[in-house]
Amino acid sequence: MKEDFEGRTALVTGAASGIGFAIAKLFAAMGANVVMVDRNETTASEAKTKIEQEISHAQILTAICDVSRENDVKRTVQTTLERFQTLDILVNNAGLMVFKPLEDHTLEDWNKVLSVDLLGAFLFIREAFRIMKPGSAIVNISSVHAVETTPRVAAYAAAKAALVSLTHSASIEGKPKGIRANCILPGAVDTPMLWNNPNIKDGLEVINKSDVGKPEEIASVVAFLASPRASFVQGAAVSVDGGRLSHL
Ligand code: NAP
Repeated sequence: MKEDFEGRTALVTGAASGIGFAIAKLFAAMGANVVMVDRNETTASEAKTKIEQEISHAQILTAICDVSRENDVKRTVQTTLERFQTLDILVNNAGLMVFKPLEDHTLEDWNKVLSVDLLGAFLFIREAFRIMKPGSAIVNISSVHAVETTPRVAAYAAAKAALVSLTHSASIEGKPKGIRANCILPGAVDTPMLWNNPNIKDGLEVINKSDVGKPEEIASVVAFLASPRASFVQGAAVSVDGGRLSHL
């Protein structure tokens, strides 16, 4: 699979932590140039160093960018082209949650979640469509919350469902350009986002340990979808949840 990525450029948002970090590390290990996008300079630079310590040949650029800000996204794609000349793979992974009963959600809460989890992906896809060459791939990280959800995460669940829809639009409009767009619906994954989840802390959402995946188990599916081996996978929403949604 290494030959699929050598010399290609992959941009991963939310790459300083959790799933995004595992994706960035896997791409670096497979010889891709990696752009690690995150909003905090310290955590992004620490994450880059961590990968470089393990992978001596890693080619990594960190880009400090709030994915919900149009100018940040434009600047990040521009910097990517200046450094690596192409953008071949885009992974929209940055995300956040707000935990509140529906009646306590404010408009600000909705704007905060939608601007990162949905519009951040839109802003990057738009820039990518303007410069990506045929053979490029986009992978959006949605969530099982797009199809089944729990109380107190209305804005998050809606944003993740809309991200599946955006993936379909990107797939349809990307196809004539030779760009594939797919999304992954992860189940519970062992990252800070999972364990900081108040629904889990309060016992409102109970997760069996066997239903918790590792970030690397999401990263390997991202790598497949981003590779030419998935050349006939277009517009797919792939659940990667260890079978959790299949339980009655
Ligand atoms: P995580 O450990 O919290 O990592 C998310 C990263 O995204 C953090 O570094 C975060 O920075 C960054 N980020 C947040 N807002 C950003 C913004 N506006 N601009 C740039 N970067 C931003 O979360 P994770 O669990 O790896 O989640 C990654 C993705 O998987 C998310 O889209 C999440 O919804 C999805 N997902 C996760 C699970 C799970 O169980 N973990 C399940 C289903 C789907 P800060 O730390 O500064 O906020």
